[in-house]
Amino acid sequence: MLKKTVIGAASTAVLGSLIENSAFASAPEKPAEDNRPPAVRKIERYLTNFLKNDPRNKLVDFENATIWEAPLFAYASADDPLFEKLKTPGIVGPAHISPSEWLPGAKTVISYFFPFSEKVRSSNYADGMPSFGWVAARVKGEIYKNQAGTELLPLITSLGGKAIVPINDPRFTTDRGTPERKWTIPTWSERHVAYIAGLGTFGLNKSLITKRGAAGRFGSVVTTLELPVTQRPYSEPYSYCPHLVNGGCGACIPRCPVKAVFDKPKEEMINTKDDLICGQFYGNLLRTTPQTYHGYRAGCGKCVTAVPCEFGIPAPDTKRVAWVKDRVVQHFVG
Ligand code: SF4
Ligand code: SF4
Repeated sequence: MLKKTVIGAASTAVLGSLIENSAFASAPEKPAEDNRPPAVRKIERYLTNFLKNDPRNKLVDFENATIWEAPLFAYASADDPLFEKLKTPGIVGPAHISPSEWLPGAKTVISYFFPFSEKVRSSNYADGMPSFGWVAARVKGEIYKNQAGTELLPLITSLGGKAIVPINDPRFTTDRGTPERKWTIPTWSERHVAYIAGLGTFGLNKSLITKRGAAGRFGSVVTTLELPVTQRPYSEPYSYCPHLVNGGCGACIPRCPVKAVFDKPKEEMINTKDDLICGQFYGNLLRTTPQTYHGYRAGCGKCVTAVPCEFGIPAPDTKRVAWVKDRVVQHFVG
């Protein structure tokens, strides 16, 4: 039951200055002097063009909107000791599989971020229920993103390497453990892998904030190709989230319709968002409104849209009061 609805300060006006438009015009991103190995250039060009030209990157049931803008890439050494650290309980967990366990002889993990298009993101700016465009993009885009990884495999073979896409492998599973546990433990966490590869750092809402923001999804390929490793431009897991650095921002807290993002910084990121409440919201509420969402069922994404980390890295001095003070939050009970 909807208990109370008072839409907060207009998010779209504030966000206008934060948003860049379609990224395909400038894709693929390259350094000023592109001295990367040909294999890297081929991989990035292939995946970027795949998104740009493939009709499956359009939402036919949402104004033919583009789902994914141009991807970001980063490369981790398969031997990076942080992969073993992911097995630590409370980080990901013992079930997490390291690159050389996925693929013996693995040398590199190719990690990529697909940002949602401006049209999809902006459709979700109003407080409350997720937009149809967001939910459709989240569901169809996820399937398509996972397929995109598989599309890279023949190219990697032609370059002389072996590769697998962990999320498409039968060994990929997610486990809730006990009903009380508020988060799932996957055998491969794309966000943690992206952190290791240098794509971004974690936010209060447990998203990973990249230079193209947090409103998107991550994928990866483990390969025996030896590719240059990306130097992480940060040294700790929360550098890009002002709330977790200095108590600023906090815009994702009132954005959540079910109060699953907590109003305080915590040492452990697993405690800053209640995945159980989040999952129940989109699992139950969206399932009860199939006519609105055409049967699609996915995360509502309010905590990564109409917030300063939506499409970029927030300014370190982003003030919390400016975002939260005059907002009354829509929430659901029952
Ligand atoms: S909205 Fe603000 S507090 Fe929340 S994750 Fe993004 S930067 Fe951090
Ligand atoms: S996806 Fe929606 S329900 Fe889940 S934490 Fe974010 S805003 Fe809350």
